[in-house]
Amino acid sequence: MSVIVVGAGIAGLSTAWSLVKAGQSVTIVEQGSIPNPLAASGDCHRIIRRAYPAGSGYGQLISEAYEAWNDLWANLGEDHLDPRGFLCVSREPGDEAEEYRKGLEKGGFPFELLEPSEAVERWPFLEPGTFRYAYFSPDGGALHCRSIASGMARWLRANGANVYEHSKVTAIDTEAGHIVLASGETMQADRIVVTAGAWVLKLFPELGDELKTYRTALAYVEPPADLKEAWEGAPVILNVGGTTDGYMVPPTRGTGMKFGSGLHKVPTSDADWNRQPVPGEGEVIRNLFSPPIARITEYKVTKVVTCAYTFTADEKFLAHEKGNCLVVSACSGHGYKFGAAVGRRVAAAIGNGDVAGLKKWLRAEVQS
Ligand SMILES: Cc1cc2nc3c(=O)[nH]c(=O)nc-3n(C[C@H](O)[C@H](O)[C@H](O)COP(=O)(O)OP(=O)(O)OC[C@H]3O[C@@H](n4cnc5c(N)ncnc54)[C@H](O)[C@@H]3O)c2cc1C
Repeated sequence: MSVIVVGAGIAGLSTAWSLVKAGQSVTIVEQGSIPNPLAASGDCHRIIRRAYPAGSGYGQLISEAYEAWNDLWANLGEDHLDPRGFLCVSREPGDEAEEYRKGLEKGGFPFELLEPSEAVERWPFLEPGTFRYAYFSPDGGALHCRSIASGMARWLRANGANVYEHSKVTAIDTEAGHIVLASGETMQADRIVVTAGAWVLKLFPELGDELKTYRTALAYVEPPADLKEAWEGAPVILNVGGTTDGYMVPPTRGTGMKFGSGLHKVPTSDADWNRQPVPGEGEVIRNLFSPPIARITEYKVTKVVTCAYTFTADEKFLAHEKGNCLVVSACSGHGYKFGAAVGRRVAAAIGNGDVAGLKKWLRAEVQS
């Protein structure tokens, strides 16, 4: 079977990888470079962690996510996960950090609970007196997205896939299995998989009721000199508690340290809108982290990157079938960690036709 994959973020690359392994004839078409720094998968890193609220289903799926990444590392001959674990800090009863802790407890997943004084001693960048407790889990870390994308593009080319960069798809005939590029060229295949991230609504505006697009930004920072060593050895900070919806990735494998917060996202109808950082934006993001991070203004903002992503109302992933085309949107701000597993599942559904089963899995409604 011939398959065209539109979009080479982690979902598209992983789908192409799995389709090639299944013996299909694969073409992947990307509007930018691979990785594309404007894509949700194009930043330096994304967090993998077992923590999900109790009952979400995605916490259980992490086992499959790890298994799929290991499968990928074996093919790439290189491991792109820094497994430094993750830390959460609870500041208020019932905050997100607490919800994640309950999810870990319910799933029977181990973690180490720390009193504030113990946590501050171990991670001196935390401000004493600003949080109720912290907990550490070894079951997480940072996935290095750019190395993953470059490695996958190399692997695809070496294994017979056609990989086109700087080739924007402007129209899809879902019945004929036909795509049109901005250059005017056309391509044809038995099936088309669309993994266009936040740009999907430009090709499938009818999904606008289900998918909402947001623009956000992340601040890369340089920590105070005397805290550098503590940060180098720190876990990923998955959640800083309260209502900040804030996470931090320490320096890992030569990449900068970054701060991101769900509070900083704004709705937009266009994934290309406002993609230049606004002056002062990095400092605004950074300052959301005090409390519980001490001496926040001593963290120097070195770079700000913008991102666009889509969310469903319940933050689950979705698939939509139209003619010979399968649209997959696995984001809602937490999809990267499942990337390799999503690709394997999408490729399987293309092979066996079980799109209903794929939809259930994407919604974390089935466990194996
Ligand atoms: C700020 C932020 C933080 C996040 N943090 C985490 C995290 O810590 N952990 C986690 O698991 N997930 C996280 N996520 C979510 C994760 O990044 C996404 O779920 C994942 O990257 C989505 O991958 P994708 O391939 O679906 O989309 P994308 O990565 O956006 O890829 C889509 C690709 O399609 C291409 N494309 C679009 N339209 C066309 C076209 N017409 N023609 C050709 N190519 C096209 C784009 O250029 C792009 O390369 C975060 C997301 C954001 C924005």
